[in-house]
Amino acid sequence: MTTSQEPPDLKLRPHHIMCEPFMVLETFNRGQAFAALADLIKQSLETDSDMVIQVVEGPDDLCRECPLCKDHRCQSPDGDETSVRKWDAIVLQALEASYGDRLTGAQFMARIRKKVPMSLCLTKCKWKAACRGPSTRPG
Ligand code: SF4
Ligand code: SF4
Repeated sequence: MTTSQEPPDLKLRPHHIMCEPFMVLETFNRGQAFAALADLIKQSLETDSDMVIQVVEGPDDLCRECPLCKDHRCQSPDGDETSVRKWDAIVLQALEASYGDRLTGAQFMARIRKKVPMSLCLTKCKWKAACRGPSTRPG
């Protein structure tokens, strides 16, 4: 008897789930592994992929490939781990999710489409210029 092996869940922090589908990946110069994973995340959300995404708190699969993640903390000059977690908490609530939830990319995308743009997209996001989210571009 053959057994099918499920691919492992993607483990992502909330803002990566919400923002990655809209980001212009060329904006980031964080190495090949980061770019490949960012592309996989994008695909899992943009298509009706059955890939399961688990919501995690703190550094996630993408952070692990990011040169700005050090000592298991985001150390980006644009917002350190503490501020990224605050951002994540707002997005988590908007997506009506909890840490540990597991949904397919398609299920998350249905929620994301209802929520973007959020008010923080329009007022606080530093990445707005690189985002193709609905109505997030200055117009
Ligand atoms: S370490 Fe920071 S900048 Fe890098 S992917 Fe994670 S949250 Fe983004
Ligand atoms: S505007 Fe910013 S916060 Fe909103 S979806 Fe785009 S990248 Fe994410």
